[in-house]
Amino acid sequence: MARLIYFDNNATTQLALEVFEVMRPFLTDEFGNASSAHQRGRSVRKAVSNARGHVADLVGAAKPDEIFFTSCGTESDNWAIRGVLSARSEMRHIVTTRVEHEAIRNVCANHEKSGGEVTWLEVDENGMTDLDDLKRSLCKDTAIVSMMLANNETGVLFPVEEAARVVKENSSAVFHTDAVNAAGKVAIDLKKSQIDLLSVSGHKFHGPKGVGALYVRPGTAIDSFLIGGGQEHGLRAGTEAVHQIVGLGEAARLAQDVSAMDRVRKIRDRLEDAILKTIPNAYLNGSSDRNDRLPNTSNISFENTNGEAILARLDEIGVCVSTGSACNSDSHSTSAVLQAMNVPYSRAMGSIRFSLGRYNTDEDVDFVLAWLPAIVENLRAMAR
Ligand code: PLP
Repeated sequence: MARLIYFDNNATTQLALEVFEVMRPFLTDEFGNASSAHQRGRSVRKAVSNARGHVADLVGAAKPDEIFFTSCGTESDNWAIRGVLSARSEMRHIVTTRVEHEAIRNVCANHEKSGGEVTWLEVDENGMTDLDDLKRSLCKDTAIVSMMLANNETGVLFPVEEAARVVKENSSAVFHTDAVNAAGKVAIDLKKSQIDLLSVSGHKFHGPKGVGALYVRPGTAIDSFLIGGGQEHGLRAGTEAVHQIVGLGEAARLAQDVSAMDRVRKIRDRLEDAILKTIPNAYLNGSSDRNDRLPNTSNISFENTNGEAILARLDEIGVCVSTGSACNSDSHSTSAVLQAMNVPYSRAMGSIRFSLGRYNTDEDVDFVLAWLPAIVENLRAMAR
């Protein structure tokens, strides 16, 4: 197979071989239903329970029972918002940011359309929210505040522990964070925080697609999302997707040591520095303080170019990147996240997200650096 350089790890990651091996028996011999009383049920029940422990460890939950398996990050996010609104039906106000993933943004927009109230917190040019704005937005009607831990497009990290503290000191709202693109990249310790709900998704850290989890702090007011059998303590009905759950658990176990991201950070920094230095009119989107961003993400605008054209040229030579969010790749409007950051159109149109991962090498970076300046120069020359 021709060389393929995969710099799109915020869209999805390659399944780790170790994870695949752990999943395999649950697609063959270990086919039992985790609710069954016989031996086929017992062995898979044990595997589901181990996986729950690994996910709990990944996010620093006090107990495995605080983890509820779902079908994906989107379900976890939808459940958090709708489950809390349902449990606190007398409270109709949500607070969230303008730069959340669609899995939160669209649920909140629907709430607004159906007569509910939403406060959309603005972000500054670095993609960061202001906690004073958050404090001012809270009222006695606020059912839930949802603020992501890391933005999937820019990698900007939000101070969610501090935000949760502000929310708890000034309201009775539930605090949710979407950690789908943060888990496995930065350390999370829920024991030290007042976060009530947290979403993760397996395919973002080398686990399988189609499985996620929601952390629920005991005592949080939340109704079930899927109603049926008594699985997941009656909060999320549906026969457990054991092979997926076991895969998520193994991926969580492997991702717990985030020091593996130190190497990723080094190669990302080299890529980012070299692009900004060697390519004229290239601008970083998101905080220039790298401590405020994920260790693997660089979102860079090449002014007066078209991001789609850069993506296509890189694709021709076997390099996979993304323009903004993967979910946006069919749309020609600029990313809502960059719009919220007031990135001018001439830059937003030419933005590329490089999101590295644990299987990338220095050679991958060398290859991209060898080709990218000429690609950008060539596209600009064609447009002149
Ligand atoms: N939240 C964030 C921040 C994401 O990046 C994504 C996926 O891109 C999701 C939620 C949705 O996760 P899933 O693809 O597992 O539904």
